[in-house]
Amino acid sequence: MLDRVDVEADILIIGGGSAGCLAAIRAKELAPEARVVVFEKGHIHRSGSLAMGMDAVNIVAIPGEGTPEEYVESATKAFHGVLDPTPSYVMAERSFALLQKLERWGINVPKDASGNYQSLQVHSKGKFAVPIMAPEIKVTLSNKVSDAGVTVLNRIQGVSLLTRGGRVAGAVGLNVRTGEMVVCRASAVILASGGCARFGLPDSGYLFGTFDFPGNAGDGFSMAFRAGAELTGMEFTRTSPLIKDMSCPLLYIVLTRGAEVVNAFGEKIGGEGGVSMGTMLKEIYDGKGPIFISMTHLPDEKVSEIESILFTTERPIQRKFFKGRGIDFREKAIELRPTEVQLCGGHGASGIRVDERAQTAVRGLYAAGDVACVPGQHLTGAFVFGEVAAEEAVALVRGSESPALDATQVGEARERMERLLSAHGPVTLHEFEYKLRRLINNYIASPKNEYKLGQALEWAERLEAELPKVATVEGAHQLGRALEVEAILDCARLSATAGRERKETRWGLQHLRTDYPEADPKLLGHIVLQRGDGGEVTTSFKAVGSR
Ligand SMILES: Cc1cc2nc3c(=O)[nH]c(=O)nc-3n(C[C@H](O)[C@H](O)[C@H](O)COP(=O)(O)OP(=O)(O)OC[C@H]3O[C@@H](n4cnc5c(N)ncnc54)[C@H](O)[C@@H]3O)c2cc1C
Repeated sequence: MLDRVDVEADILIIGGGSAGCLAAIRAKELAPEARVVVFEKGHIHRSGSLAMGMDAVNIVAIPGEGTPEEYVESATKAFHGVLDPTPSYVMAERSFALLQKLERWGINVPKDASGNYQSLQVHSKGKFAVPIMAPEIKVTLSNKVSDAGVTVLNRIQGVSLLTRGGRVAGAVGLNVRTGEMVVCRASAVILASGGCARFGLPDSGYLFGTFDFPGNAGDGFSMAFRAGAELTGMEFTRTSPLIKDMSCPLLYIVLTRGAEVVNAFGEKIGGEGGVSMGTMLKEIYDGKGPIFISMTHLPDEKVSEIESILFTTERPIQRKFFKGRGIDFREKAIELRPTEVQLCGGHGASGIRVDERAQTAVRGLYAAGDVACVPGQHLTGAFVFGEVAAEEAVALVRGSESPALDATQVGEARERMERLLSAHGPVTLHEFEYKLRRLINNYIASPKNEYKLGQALEWAERLEAELPKVATVEGAHQLGRALEVEAILDCARLSATAGRERKETRWGLQHLRTDYPEADPKLLGHIVLQRGDGGEVTTSFKAVGSR
């Protein structure tokens, strides 16, 4: 029997990463009296995508350099028309003020000799990426959260949302150290738990060797779906080329500074306008891979500049990695491989359906960052919509009573966890997750077809039923892992269902249906997923920009 701890909040934030920190700070700025609580699965000081530092804020519309209109045009093109313009516009519109706020907080945003911000071109139009030198950015943010008087509950994994009468009423969490069940009543909940990094299995076979923060296992997608929110873009199974055997960012940093991409035949890929992810991935799938990043033609000072970013802000371990492989960028190219497939509303286009006010289909439930679908929003979106969600939540909390908890729902959350804890089968959770994610590679990643996606759904159903029977779940930590496996299973069901609905090829290799190889103009819109009365995934189609 799990012990129960009760917590009262006005605003509960699930996930203390980029979006969660900004939401918490903003809520306290606006309402110092509000009880703001954060459930963070890891430790807020070093959790989430930001933990290793950040080299740029990818979308900043600097006055005189780029406009929100240009940004929306560019992003719409990048996502092949499936992008609601208003949230992206609002993000770009607020981006410059946000950058200035980060600077006031002590984040180093380098400027040139004349005091101008640097800006790099990573979109098809406009220079929107602003470099930052911020290896300690997560610590800076988490300190601000503490200083603001937010109650941070570390090692608490959000498990399920509580609702009453169609409105959010709080959430149940699990203390992954003690095994206590934490029941939090809250008037508003902000989901900020990132995307699903642990979706496909990386080439290396390491469960946690993912590009994105591996603690993000799609819990937010799963919680939102189970609570009745809408999701979209789940068929956008994102992959991009990264350093082989080291899933670290590289492309934005080196391509914007003159590096070239070449294939295994030594041919340069991409023309005057640069090289897109799609072109690079196609080269690999066409059998001309591996592909490489080459900097041998760059002047020494440029290579040194790149090294200083890669080996400090981005990931210090890269220095050791390249030394170990005998790679000096001045002499040798870097081999790339496609990453595992992931679901993400930050780099990709998957997530909870939100409007420009970060509202979901469940009243009082907001979503921000990689868990929400604002395609290609990156760090800017996490920060801006973290703030937007907090502003909306504060307004809601001030104007309404907090709903009472539904004891049946709390009981169901307890039963779910206790059922998993009673699993004493022969299969370790590691083996179980490995098999699930290998099947995701086999049946959900591109190239896709009707048969494969159908197989994915069959396997998801089977594995869901088998988990409590064949796996072993011992103790609080493993219970947290088992709940993550359930979230990955939910994501697999959602992704395969959406993939089946989108009977066309869109976004290149992110959704390549070999049985429907062309784009269908009738499908220029959103495949929207929601939970049916019997727990099934229901689908509908909504036009771009509609609610
Ligand atoms: C390697 C890498 C490099 C990047 N570089 C750039 C860049 O240079 N510029 C840029 O603009 N963008 C960049 N991005 C994208 C950007 O970092 C993300 O879009 C952004 O940080 C997402 O913020 P988030 O709050 O949604 O997720 P995260 O910051 O990942 O936070 C999610 C948090 O939720 C917690 N969590 C997960 N599940 C639960 C649960 N069930 N209960 C409680 N807590 C939970 C996690 O522990 C984590 O702390 C990069 C991303 C990666 C992965």
